[in-house]
Amino acid sequence: MKKTVRDVKVEAKRVLVRVDFNVPLAEGKVTDDTRIRAALPTINYLLEHGAKVILMSHLGRPKGKVVDKLRLSAVPERLAELLGRPVRKLDDCVGRKVEAAVAEMRRGDVILLENTRFHPEEESNDPVYARELASLADIFVNDAFGAAHRAHASTVGVAEYLPSVAGFLMEKEITFLGKALAAPDHPFVAILGGAKISSKIGLIDNLLTKVDGLLIGGGMANTFLKAQGHEIGQSLVEDDSLDVARETLERAGERLALPVDVVVADRFDAEADSKVVPVGQVPEDWRILDIGPETVELFKRKLAGAKTVVWNGPMGVFEFPRFAEGTFAIARFLADLEATTIIGGGDVVAAVGQAGVADRIAHVSTGGGASLEFLEGNPLPAVAALEDK
Ligand code: ADP
Ligand code: MG
Repeated sequence: MKKTVRDVKVEAKRVLVRVDFNVPLAEGKVTDDTRIRAALPTINYLLEHGAKVILMSHLGRPKGKVVDKLRLSAVPERLAELLGRPVRKLDDCVGRKVEAAVAEMRRGDVILLENTRFHPEEESNDPVYARELASLADIFVNDAFGAAHRAHASTVGVAEYLPSVAGFLMEKEITFLGKALAAPDHPFVAILGGAKISSKIGLIDNLLTKVDGLLIGGGMANTFLKAQGHEIGQSLVEDDSLDVARETLERAGERLALPVDVVVADRFDAEADSKVVPVGQVPEDWRILDIGPETVELFKRKLAGAKTVVWNGPMGVFEFPRFAEGTFAIARFLADLEATTIIGGGDVVAAVGQAGVADRIAHVSTGGGASLEFLEGNPLPAVAALEDK
């Protein structure tokens, strides 16, 4: 277990908090404040306990230069509204002006530093830069689970120089994902989908050592279907992963379930003609874009009674409403299931949000890449850098 903000005395301390404010922007406005809201429990706790709160985050990929569009300027307005107190935004994250602003802070003040990636030393985890960041504070709190798989100065480097603990979001992520891997309640069923097998081989391997059932849909299923000798027409397929698919079929045995019917389209388009066919009857110039209704029923039967469910990757091209039903039906079923359900990934999280059931899922991970790494069984460097209890 990692220490959290509860395990340190923060009263009157300068607390440097790494948050994930890598928010979507349009015309200088925050278009989705999910990540800002996700950081509120930690920030509010620190404020209620009399800390001086210094926030830092990356935004986008400025590649070590100042990029005006990637300033964190749009965040303070929204954050101040949510906190109900002012947020002072600085133009840099290190240097004399920053030091002076921090020196003036009182308890309950909130400062937001500028994008940490405006300095190339962030991504190279330069110790001098990390020490400059650390010198602003007495304690380091990492609440940026979404950046935890990156060994950067603001996630790993600063932890060398300060007492370092997890924030509440970080704690929730590692508790849920950690329990699912280390001590899941059984039956444990994983659902995998998304575009490609090749990006998820580590995930399949690790989950296969733990699960009682594995349901595969999405584009990834096509390669399995082809490996079984089915005609898949123009469907997305990875021919160089056919061997992986065969090995997985063998290793998983009875635990693995693949689609029995699919929704096919005459072209890759939101307005394409579509129909449901059994697997093995995909017309030559059509392509699989969703799982079919029989498959949804099959997957529901396999999920019934599960006590732990991990889901990564959508069941179809949910970006096209006509091909979203498989993904949405699984999302709705999971919302009603009495199980610890964990959704991790990028697109699948968006899909579950669109299905309108995210608030009825035990844990929707905020870190796409980080949750994938974690579920693959790889240590997250920024988590490793925090102090153990
Ligand atoms: P995640 O971000 O949840 O890990 P991925 O990035 O692996 O998921 O895959 C998501 C993408 O997979 C989506 O853009 C979706 O349109 C695509 N996809 C799902 N099913 C299919 C399919 N049958 N054919 C082509 N693309 C698909
Ligand atoms: Mg994705």
